[in-house]
Amino acid sequence: MYSRIDQSLLEELRRTVGETGVLVSEEALEAYSHDEVAELRVRPEAVVKPRTADQVAAVVRLAGERTVPVTPRGAGQGLSGGAVPVFGGLVLSLDSMNRILEIDQENLMAWVEPGVITGEFQREVEKLGLFYPPDPASQDSCTMGGNVAENAGGPHAIKYGVTKDYVCGLEVVLPSGRIIQIGGKVVKNVTGYNLLQLLIGSEGTLGVVTKILVRLLPLPKERVDLLVPYDDFRRAAKTVSDVISSRIIPTALEFMERDSIAAVEKLLEKEAFFRDSAAHLLVTLDGNDRSAVDAEYERIGELCLANGAVDVMVADTLQTRERMWEIRKMIIEALQNLSPERIMDTQDVVVPRTELPRLLDRIKEVGRKHGMSIVSFGHSGDGNVHVNVIKNVPEDVWRARAPRAAEEIYRIAVELGGMVTGEHGIGLTRKRYLPLGLDDVQIDLMKQIKEDFDPKNILNPGKIFD
Ligand SMILES: Cc1cc2nc3c(=O)[nH]c(=O)nc-3n(C[C@H](O)[C@H](O)[C@H](O)COP(=O)(O)OP(=O)(O)OC[C@H]3O[C@@H](n4cnc5c(N)ncnc54)[C@H](O)[C@@H]3O)c2cc1C
Repeated sequence: MYSRIDQSLLEELRRTVGETGVLVSEEALEAYSHDEVAELRVRPEAVVKPRTADQVAAVVRLAGERTVPVTPRGAGQGLSGGAVPVFGGLVLSLDSMNRILEIDQENLMAWVEPGVITGEFQREVEKLGLFYPPDPASQDSCTMGGNVAENAGGPHAIKYGVTKDYVCGLEVVLPSGRIIQIGGKVVKNVTGYNLLQLLIGSEGTLGVVTKILVRLLPLPKERVDLLVPYDDFRRAAKTVSDVISSRIIPTALEFMERDSIAAVEKLLEKEAFFRDSAAHLLVTLDGNDRSAVDAEYERIGELCLANGAVDVMVADTLQTRERMWEIRKMIIEALQNLSPERIMDTQDVVVPRTELPRLLDRIKEVGRKHGMSIVSFGHSGDGNVHVNVIKNVPEDVWRARAPRAAEEIYRIAVELGGMVTGEHGIGLTRKRYLPLGLDDVQIDLMKQIKEDFDPKNILNPGKIFD
């Protein structure tokens, strides 16, 4: 179906991006063969590191002429195998395009290249009293381009939304090699179909993002963080819908069950607060008026206690706040350590927030039924739970039971009015579950869109659809 990369193509690629921009060593091919899904590894035939949109366009054109697949890649922090080059070919690594091009303090917008690390960008705008809210827990490693391609969310999504709510413009290289500019420094735009939103979350299958324009907010002046332990995880889950229906929208409302906290303790070799509790909620509130923020946290504290919380701990120092959040941010890495091979199947289901207690209960049942360790945590304020089936059983048991457990969990989420993935994307690992969330008409429309953008199917083939 695809051609192999030969010497003449390698030479043309070197002429296009320079000698050092083409990697073919064993170490490089291995390093670019995977993302954060441990068991998925396919080596590319070469890695190309362009520095400009024109170079990206030239590489994509060359690949198109030779029918060589191209897999765009940011930092490889994805959790759906999206950056894995399943058909070999080229990995197009955008990490050298990593400049913040402009922070426009009059329009409250910024232009960045796709390889900018999200956390670094956030810290730069914060120095100017500005705020870029999308905050995937991987923010200190993942790229803005990867965030656009996955429409990444994070703890702030409950109040501030996800990446799509901040992107106002994109420069994109299409599979034909043509460069298009979409959107601009405008607050409103209904000029034609919304191609901007079509490209956001398209998982590198429709175009390569080479420049991103995002809007910024003023940085809130006040912030309070609460850690709330519970002896029963159901009570923690029930608190979530009570908080939302009280009409207070926190900045973050995260859920962690005991096994996830214990795994981080083991990894970091330090004790968590309230380490024996069955579950924790981690709540953040922000705003500009201290008394309003205080009133909101007191009200949320009352709701937590009314739902049976053991305590409500208020982070009154930066050190305490960082210690609370450190646990949350390390969970994925810590859970991987529970498997001798560092393998787990991470699901990313999302349900209406009121269904959270039922979802968590039924996930526990699935774990018991299949005799698998299943640990859940996540963005409970969005009804988005990361369900991790840990591989700590023999290979044959894993192969027989893990796919069944996964399918049951996806089906439960859909039955409860939810979706297959809230933020990690379909990529490679969730392709077979796409029909659970979408009907044939929608899938056919999506496939048609892919074909119109990319008739030769060279850009990130093998993803999203079977
Ligand atoms: C510890 C941990 C915590 C995480 N927490 C969160 C979280 O809270 N919220 C969340 O949403 N995700 C989270 N993730 C998942 C992941 O970090 C995000 O999906 C992130 O957006 C990936 O960015 P990346 O730069 O690493 O992209 P990659 O993994 O390199 O690529 C991801 C996809 O984007 C495509 N792509 C990358 N760059 C471009 C580009 N310039 N143009 C077109 N396509 C491109 C790739 O082809 C691939 O399909 C987490 C991951 C880890 C490991």
